[in-house]
Amino acid sequence: LPVVAIVGRANVGKSTLFNRLVGRRVSIVEDTPGVTRDRIYGKSEWNGVPFRVIDTGGIEMDEEDEMGNLIRVQAQIAIDEADVILFVVDGRQGVTQADEHVAQVLRRAHKPVVLGVNKLDHVEQHALSYEFYRLGFGEPIPFSAEHGQGTGDLLDAVVAALPKASEEDEDEDAIRIAFIGRPNVGKSSLVNRLLGEERVMVSPVAGTTRDAVDTPLERDGQTYMLVDTAGMRRKGKVYERIEKYSVLRALRALDRADVAFVVLDAQTGIVEQDKRVAGYALDAGCAIAFVVNKWDAIEKDDKTAHRFEEKIRDEFPFLRFAPVIFVSALTGQRVSRLLDVAKEIAEYHAMRVPTSTLNRVLADAQVSVSPPSKGGRRLRIYYGTQVSVKPPTFVIFVNDTELSHFSYERYLENQLREAFGFRGTPIRIVLRARD
Ligand code: GDP
Repeated sequence: LPVVAIVGRANVGKSTLFNRLVGRRVSIVEDTPGVTRDRIYGKSEWNGVPFRVIDTGGIEMDEEDEMGNLIRVQAQIAIDEADVILFVVDGRQGVTQADEHVAQVLRRAHKPVVLGVNKLDHVEQHALSYEFYRLGFGEPIPFSAEHGQGTGDLLDAVVAALPKASEEDEDEDAIRIAFIGRPNVGKSSLVNRLLGEERVMVSPVAGTTRDAVDTPLERDGQTYMLVDTAGMRRKGKVYERIEKYSVLRALRALDRADVAFVVLDAQTGIVEQDKRVAGYALDAGCAIAFVVNKWDAIEKDDKTAHRFEEKIRDEFPFLRFAPVIFVSALTGQRVSRLLDVAKEIAEYHAMRVPTSTLNRVLADAQVSVSPPSKGGRRLRIYYGTQVSVKPPTFVIFVNDTELSHFSYERYLENQLREAFGFRGTPIRIVLRARD
């Protein structure tokens, strides 16, 4: 998806605008305990055009970062990662020095910039936006993030500035794999090891997004595409500095991947950032496996792998379905198994189940554990149907969605997993009322 970055000095209303664009998504994932929410990145859509939004103001900085540096780094991330920059200023305050500062950085970006003048809630205030012409980004668009006026015009301008969706010429049968994880867990080493061991079909191809390079592999007649290997093969100071603050690259890779390998570091163990990374993969709806790397580097006995897996299950309760594989990029141990795992979970990810079997499973589930009730009324399940794959998504028609309970939906999910396997893939269940 194309990326829109919201940039601007503090307190101009970036987060309010972000929340308005991204909204509160209601999903099973959202309700799952243990999923770390990150409010900096989100998906939005305008007139049928989907895009990602990043609120650069929400990016956490190291403590030693000075204010000026903060704006510079945020703007830099926007410049590096965004397709369109949404520059927000405060119409009631007029042009400030900090605005000039941001403008100066953005001008060097050579990226389309849409200038939004916030906090102009009434038409009579719109004239206040004129003075922002002098920032040099064309017509300033007055709007109110709080109340919504003018946001339509703003989004029209943003969407008009987005790159046109290119006709993708992707190999439909390829299994697309993204290696994600925090810095230094060994993503690059794994990718390079894999490329060293397997036959690389052709030279890497330019991906659909700028700078993205995808590398195809083939084994036993199956094509695998390693998504976004660019950053992994040439790592520089700039890349590392930005990577520290930005997970956008991983998000974009996930958008285009079937399988996410969430790479963990056996030496450092599991840290908070690993959960966030895994949460992104789940959100993106990818098939997921945990890859515990640097397995060579730790002392082991016959229980070590078992204990590490238990730890993973504790720390990632929402990813019980994901297989775990222990590897070493250094020695190559089990690295070639990665493709087998990818193939297996990609198959479940794309699996369609017959409607009749599905409904038998749902009927049995209701008999074994009766659905919840509220105020004397009981949830009734009429029938279910699989509406899509990647991940498998089911719509279940019920009498009243209000009567449902999260725990019952989780029970249904478990029943579906028991019946169909679905190893390594999230599944989604959407309840819909039908009278
Ligand atoms: P990335 O930031 O996730 O791409 O991580 P890198 O691939 O750059 O690896 C980070 C560091 O970990 C480097 O110093 C690697 O040499 C080291 N490393 C990577 N994989 C392994 C491994 O399997 N075993 C050991 N002992 N070190 C590894």
